[in-house]
Amino acid sequence: MHEFSVAVEMVKSVLTELEGRDVNKVLDVVLELGDLTSINPEQLEFCFGVASKRTILEGVTLTIHQKPGVLRCKCGYEGDPSHGCDDFPPLAYVACPDCGGGDLEILSGRELGIKNIRYEG
Ligand SMILES: [Zn+2]
Repeated sequence: MHEFSVAVEMVKSVLTELEGRDVNKVLDVVLELGDLTSINPEQLEFCFGVASKRTILEGVTLTIHQKPGVLRCKCGYEGDPSHGCDDFPPLAYVACPDCGGGDLEILSGRELGIKNIRYEG
């Protein structure tokens, strides 16, 4: 399960981030998660809960901001890689939905990181 190793890394980096600060209680952690990362937000939330057990982050609210995938192709296509189709495999972003070309630039959708941590000192 990919989500679990991601969640473990996130817990680690939040704890590193808070190291040396006077933290009494962590209120919430805001994440940015791109649609093209193939990470399921519900699973990530669940795994974060498990991974943060017995740390200062136990029971903290995880807020996930999902960023839509946006591609730009040489042919001029710019936008949603799914082309309105919902049940496409999330890793199938290798071809342009318009011309089928593979010369793509990913403008958005690969975000995976901590955006904000709120805590009481
Ligand atoms: Zn194209």
